[in-house]
Amino acid sequence: MEAVCRCGETTIELTGKPFESAICYCESCRTAGHGFEQDRDAPQTVRADGGVEYCIYRKDRVKIARGGQHLRDYRLKPDSPTRRVVASCCNSPMFADYTPGHWLSLYRGRLPEPAPEPRVCVMAKDRLEGTELPKDIPAYDSFAPRLMIKLLVTWAAMGFRRPKITF
Ligand SMILES: [Zn+2]
Ligand SMILES: [Zn+2]
Repeated sequence: MEAVCRCGETTIELTGKPFESAICYCESCRTAGHGFEQDRDAPQTVRADGGVEYCIYRKDRVKIARGGQHLRDYRLKPDSPTRRVVASCCNSPMFADYTPGHWLSLYRGRLPEPAPEPRVCVMAKDRLEGTELPKDIPAYDSFAPRLMIKLLVTWAAMGFRRPKITF
């Protein structure tokens, strides 16, 4: 399976399915997403309710296959540990990387259809005022316990390594 930018020049090889799919309502994801949407030809990244959808992979199951030269890092603050990476060939946001972590959050829109459906909402306390959360999946004000457990189990399965994503 591959995550692909809109124009097809940049591809990321994915092994297997994501271990979780989530909608994040935090302000950082939304601010960054709206920023990326300002670029020419950029795809929509933020949902109407202010959430951003991700498919979350182990870093050792993700490999930049083509177009690494197009990838650009963006950080909301220069010293932020989280970078968001955009394929500059067509201004497609590809993934969010909490650099000390062992997981990588791919923007769900980059995965081939049908991409795995979101199964949990996190950081719901930051959602836009007046919007309703999806009713069919659980929502948590901050981080979801099930996501924390999955992250821990996944990290154990990785032998507690923290691979780096380079390009
Ligand atoms: Zn592209
Ligand atoms: Zn977020």
